[in-house]
Amino acid sequence: MSKPFWETTPLEAMSEEQWESLCDGCGKCCLHKLMDEDSDDVYYTNVACSWLNSDTCSCKDYMNRFESGEECLKLTRDKISEFNWLPETCAYRLLSQGDTLPQWHPLITGFKSAMHAAGESVRNKVVYEIDVIDWEDHILNHPNR
Ligand code: SF4
Ligand code: SF4
Repeated sequence: MSKPFWETTPLEAMSEEQWESLCDGCGKCCLHKLMDEDSDDVYYTNVACSWLNSDTCSCKDYMNRFESGEECLKLTRDKISEFNWLPETCAYRLLSQGDTLPQWHPLITGFKSAMHAAGESVRNKVVYEIDVIDWEDHILNHPNR
């Protein structure tokens, strides 16, 4: 059986369709992050961008997300070397590090439901900025995870 494209094609050489299909739709990159001013370490919080639907984990206005007023970043091939800020389960980060996709990834299972069942999406785990009193209470993780 031939190997899947993500095991044979470098990120830089993927077609637009292949590149887009890597996104599992977990919603983790749509969480607000805090950066340590001294070390530049990035900490994820459980505070979601206001455009994130916490049930579907998708953007409420994906086509216009760069005009949303939120700091929405496009993942591009010229920034692959900087993908260590992405969540550690993110396909773009994994492949940029030479790792492969997790077994629950929709490209492997054919469905997003396996990802949700594995607890690897932000479904129903987030709050929004309006709920925040002290941002430090919402930090989720260790630096760059
Ligand atoms: S963290 Fe990665 S895989 Fe998850 S939604 Fe963001 S870009 Fe897609
Ligand atoms: S605007 Fe960007 S960061 Fe916000 S939910 Fe949409 S894709 Fe995620």
